[in-house]
Amino acid sequence: MRFPFLSAPFLLVSALILGVSDMARAQTVDIHLPELGDSASATLSMQTEKKIGQEIMNEIRAQEPTYLDDPEVEAYLNQLGNRLAAASPDLGIGFYFFPLEDPMINAFAMFGGYIGVNSGLILAVQNESELAGVLAHEVSHVTQRHLARGIVRQNQISTASLLAMAVAILAARSNSDVAGAAMAGASAGATQAQLGFTRDFEREADRIGFQTLEKAGFDVRSMSAFFARLQRATRIYENNAPVYLRTHPLNVERISDMQNREQGHPYKQVPDSLEFQLVRARLQAMRGTPAEAVAHFKTLLAEQKTLNVAATQYGLAVAEARQKDWQAAENTLAGIRQGKNAPPMIERLYAEARIKRGDLAGGLAIFRDALNRYPNAIALVYAYGEALLENHRLDDAQIFLDQSVRKNSADARLYKLQAETCAARGKTGQQHKALAEAYALEGRLAAAIEQLELAQKSGGNDFYTNSAIEARLRQFKRKQQEEARQR
Ligand SMILES: [Zn+2]
Repeated sequence: MRFPFLSAPFLLVSALILGVSDMARAQTVDIHLPELGDSASATLSMQTEKKIGQEIMNEIRAQEPTYLDDPEVEAYLNQLGNRLAAASPDLGIGFYFFPLEDPMINAFAMFGGYIGVNSGLILAVQNESELAGVLAHEVSHVTQRHLARGIVRQNQISTASLLAMAVAILAARSNSDVAGAAMAGASAGATQAQLGFTRDFEREADRIGFQTLEKAGFDVRSMSAFFARLQRATRIYENNAPVYLRTHPLNVERISDMQNREQGHPYKQVPDSLEFQLVRARLQAMRGTPAEAVAHFKTLLAEQKTLNVAATQYGLAVAEARQKDWQAAENTLAGIRQGKNAPPMIERLYAEARIKRGDLAGGLAIFRDALNRYPNAIALVYAYGEALLENHRLDDAQIFLDQSVRKNSADARLYKLQAETCAARGKTGQQHKALAEAYALEGRLAAAIEQLELAQKSGGNDFYTNSAIEARLRQFKRKQQEEARQR
């Protein structure tokens, strides 16, 4: 993995840390670190933690093969996750949830409020409250600053080595043999001590997570139900559960603690949201070959074994779209759209299927109608911008993306789409300017400055654009100097 600002000595330091910390196998996914004391979090400032999280997130987007670049699944996770975050002690750190296409049942918290959620977990839970229970646990690791508290106690580790450690752990995710070799020197005694401390953090995350779950309005009994089922019947999940059980040391005591907490909380029927059902169908439809996925959903529908027919049909349409059978996907979706205010996920796929089978005007009209009803559905915004761009409606794309960027000024993906549109229209200066904004939002200031300098050199800019570029360049350079001073 790339390391933008790491030099060799830092890597050496981190190698030593990894040498004594044999958590790696246990920790390949859930980055749980031991507590060697408490309230040391002041040493690692929130800004530093956020910065590290952002760096790791950039690496994941660029390098992690299981990273699932799917705005709809991501939007759902953020909607659910932020509902839980809003019910947690507020750190002002901001959360970001992202999906991974990985059959292992897992979720993991990283520095700075970045939380990864495996598709294997989303498909293994029996209801939305169970998924919320696992996420509430991870959110609590963040709000309790377990990463910072654990790691800072380990002899004032430098920021750079923290980053190195986190990236090494991530690297281990995709190649467990490498991880195994790197961790071979670890001592058994250290593991025991560290796992013991980790159990303290686990207990705290369970306790705070329970309060969060209750406050957010989910069924609090789902937490122990999921964990107990996971522990009792690992074979139900074949080989997908062990990682989770290794990274979240589960024992009888933890589960009975959860059950004790539930005393006095009557069973609460919390219906699953339609988005939860649709996201699960979407993830399921991405599994196996397209033909296998189509067959799977057709069987479910034929046997009438499905809890939510609309979600199952949506899954069938996703599988048909994977087969590039756009007409079939359109027909399947038309069946569930009838007379209903269909949700954004269904509208997006329907509009795309219409366009792909040759009805551009009809598809774009579906998009516009859906955007009128759901102006904040960000995946719909991306998809409409992409459809305009792909189909060479460049003027429309420019107007739409300029508006969307003004409305969502912290959205790097939108700036990148805007940059692509500018490039297609031959507006090189504006293209670099838009890219600069995207990079700045990702915390990549040097790259942002480089883009602004390219924008200045590209010529053809009017006076207004040039002054805007100059002002932004001054701002970014000041910020870069500040960051250099802090480091
Ligand atoms: Zn945990």
